[in-house]
Amino acid sequence: MSVKTVALIAHDACKDKMVEWVGKHRQVLGGMSIVATGTTGGRIADAHPDLSVSPLKSGPLGGDQQIGAMIADGRLEGLVFFVDPLSPMPHDVDVKALTRLAIVYDLPMACSPSTADAVLHYLAAD
Ligand code: PGA
Repeated sequence: MSVKTVALIAHDACKDKMVEWVGKHRQVLGGMSIVATGTTGGRIADAHPDLSVSPLKSGPLGGDQQIGAMIADGRLEGLVFFVDPLSPMPHDVDVKALTRLAIVYDLPMACSPSTADAVLHYLAAD
């Protein structure tokens, strides 16, 4: 079984939630390759120094697009994107673009902790 690669992104209001979610799944995630947008990745690495996280550019500076390219290249097995549903989102187009690509390539994508649990469970079992 090859090592799965999972991409993690969280809007600012959801970064604590992402750090908590990663902590809950640190054992399973420790056996996977993790990429994350810049600030999200930094927060995860600070909170969980035992995990190896490859940081990309910050989302608004192109990190989301880098993840999009990874989806198009078939280099990702899953995407967890904790989207802030309560703020007007200047990055709405980025969410839309990644959601569209995830559908095009039938990539498991989760936008909340419970769906992320389900996606990770699926990836760990697959
Ligand atoms: P960030 O990007 O992790 O660099 O904050 C998140 C986003 O795309 O909004």
